[in-house]
Amino acid sequence: MFAKILIANRGEIACRVIKTARRLGIKTVAVYSDADRLARHVAMADEAIHIGGSPARESYLVADKIIAAARRTGAGAIHPGYGFLSENAGFAEACAKAGLVFIGPPPAAIRAMGSKSEAKKIMEKARVPLVPGYHGDDQSAELLAREAARIGFPVLIKASAGGGGKGMRVVESADKFADALAGAQREAKASFADDHVLVEKYLTRPRHIEIQVFADSHGGCLYLFERDCSIQRRHQKVIEEAPAPAMDPARRKAMGEAAVAAARAIGYQGAGTVEFIADQAGTFFFMEMNTRLQVEHPVTEAITGQDLVEWQLVVAAGGKMPLAQDQLRIDGHAVEVRLYAEDPARNFLPSTGTLVHLRLPQEGPHVRVDTGVRQGDTVTPFYDPMIAKVIVHDRDRASAMRRMAALMGETEVVGVTTNAALLKALCSHPAFVGGEIDTGFIERHRDELFAKPAAAGDRIFAIATLARLVEWQDAADAAARSSGDPWSPWNGQGAFRLLDEGHDAVHWKDGDREATVIARRRRDGGIGLELPGGDLEASVQRADDGRLLIGLGDDTFTATVVRRQTADGIDYTVFADGASRRLRLVDPLDVTQYEAAGAAEAAVRAPLPGKIIDLRVKPGDTVSKGQPLLVLEAMKMEHTLTAPADGTVKSVRYAVGEQVAEGAELVEFEAS
Ligand code: ADP
Ligand code: ADP
Ligand code: MG
Repeated sequence: MFAKILIANRGEIACRVIKTARRLGIKTVAVYSDADRLARHVAMADEAIHIGGSPARESYLVADKIIAAARRTGAGAIHPGYGFLSENAGFAEACAKAGLVFIGPPPAAIRAMGSKSEAKKIMEKARVPLVPGYHGDDQSAELLAREAARIGFPVLIKASAGGGGKGMRVVESADKFADALAGAQREAKASFADDHVLVEKYLTRPRHIEIQVFADSHGGCLYLFERDCSIQRRHQKVIEEAPAPAMDPARRKAMGEAAVAAARAIGYQGAGTVEFIADQAGTFFFMEMNTRLQVEHPVTEAITGQDLVEWQLVVAAGGKMPLAQDQLRIDGHAVEVRLYAEDPARNFLPSTGTLVHLRLPQEGPHVRVDTGVRQGDTVTPFYDPMIAKVIVHDRDRASAMRRMAALMGETEVVGVTTNAALLKALCSHPAFVGGEIDTGFIERHRDELFAKPAAAGDRIFAIATLARLVEWQDAADAAARSSGDPWSPWNGQGAFRLLDEGHDAVHWKDGDREATVIARRRRDGGIGLELPGGDLEASVQRADDGRLLIGLGDDTFTATVVRRQTADGIDYTVFADGASRRLRLVDPLDVTQYEAAGAAEAAVRAPLPGKIIDLRVKPGDTVSKGQPLLVLEAMKMEHTLTAPADGTVKSVRYAVGEQVAEGAELVEFEAS
């Protein structure tokens, strides 16, 4: 076994690899970019080496710097994690040349699966079932259109070199084929420097079911069952589970053996995943093979009780796999959700910012949390905006989903927008819990899943007001502590008990609705609240963990309230009853807030730094609310920015191809 390894990655996967290495007594070396100087993976490793600037192409993608760091620190092997250089055959070769073990498959196996078209040719020979389609070398537009007609619409055009759902276009009919092809080729060229495409039958309501395979250098090759990753957005996984709902043992065996045949066909070693697409009847077809550990591997670890990173290390060091096929069993059900810093309501636009407050679920016998960030860290536009993966393992699917829904309700994040509420809605959606599962689920159930929470009621205004009182009390206590005479009635502490009953008015704003709450502090420590809907007796106390223990009428419960000063005001985020709610504090003495609110946003700004790739309007155009104005490529994804209201475009500040900074005014706009 290796004495020391280097992890050529960042974030949760780097932390996760370090955890296993530490358990096995293996020393770890982290690498980091400028933006990651203080990152969690750097703090967790035994040593850390700076490898360059924040953009991945200046750091995590620079093979030479990573190899030099490994040599300098005496690491014997490199774990690539996923993403970055994990599927780069040239990097695997460079490691070998430098006398380092690449913890992954042989370069030839990476190459064989690197192109979806080539992979399909190999799988055809290995008699693995394929989605009907065309994956030949002739790329002329006429031939591709003819093939599409032969396959039958709808078809899916895919970039051969693709990944992460990029370079893909669904085509519904022959007349739309030429445009879609051009679009897919353009995106493929930009993202992968390769515009080779393939055409496939587009399955309706399919399931994404993948098989975890493993192979060692002693001829062993086996499968660790399946994962269902059908719940997706933008063709990317959001929820993954194992085993797949309604999988019968015979089909599991057939898929497992097909995946093993695929791995054997390319002389595979290490961890890999064979992805299949299945129709609702269960007929499955090969889609692609990912020659690396996958984001969702923890659900397989949960149901098999195995540590796949440990298996990777054993196999890379030349050992045999710890178990044989007939020793593997499925225990219970596991589900993973990807908690992302993104806004589901804005087409999953990534959200960047500082994690002012972060409380992830507590780990325990049923719960695992893989994360690369801590409270105070920043989600930057440079990398994947995932905050954490939360994994639940329970006796059955219904129990796992129930537990996950509860955990998502308790997750507290302030500073970036997250998909926590969507994840909760998904895990508690009767249709999904009941077994309705396919890649179109989120879009089909959009209305229920994205339902706007009802307007804040008295309960939320009460909680926020109580938090405000606790703040005042804290400030008074602090003032008393710093004064010479802590007991002076003039220093505020407990002043309301000594003097008259205190009485304060707090004004809140929830969207357009304003509410004033009057709080009267009683001599006995209780608080009388006058709320829009009536009066309530209340009490509040701060618990050790910072939560508030609240009494409201006859009800006692805990809540968290986080105050945050932003550019345009003071927000209070209330976490209570399994949901979060943001209120704006209205300070009647502060006039600037009215000015800010009065000036209707007359500009469309870049929500992230990126590149303008398409302009759909020009000065003078009349547009209606929601109409696409331009397309911004940011964080490797395309984002369409739309008109905030009906109006007229006054000016367009940038041209196609230009880079823009976050917050840059892109389109000047006059609302009508
Ligand atoms: P997987 O195929 O493992 O489920 P996805 O398809 O969701 O992963 O993601 C596609 C790619 O996005 C992955 O291969 C990986 O390169 C990248 N990716 C996803 N999450 C992260 C992350 N937290 N850090 C780095 N790369 C990531
Ligand atoms: P990537 O490299 O981006 O992961 P995949 O080929 O694995 O590309 O496909 C990503 C997703 O696109 C799948 O999980 C599935 O949801 C959808 N998809 C792929 N092929 C098809 C198909 N033939 N029919 C319907 N959906 C498909
Ligand atoms: Mg895939």
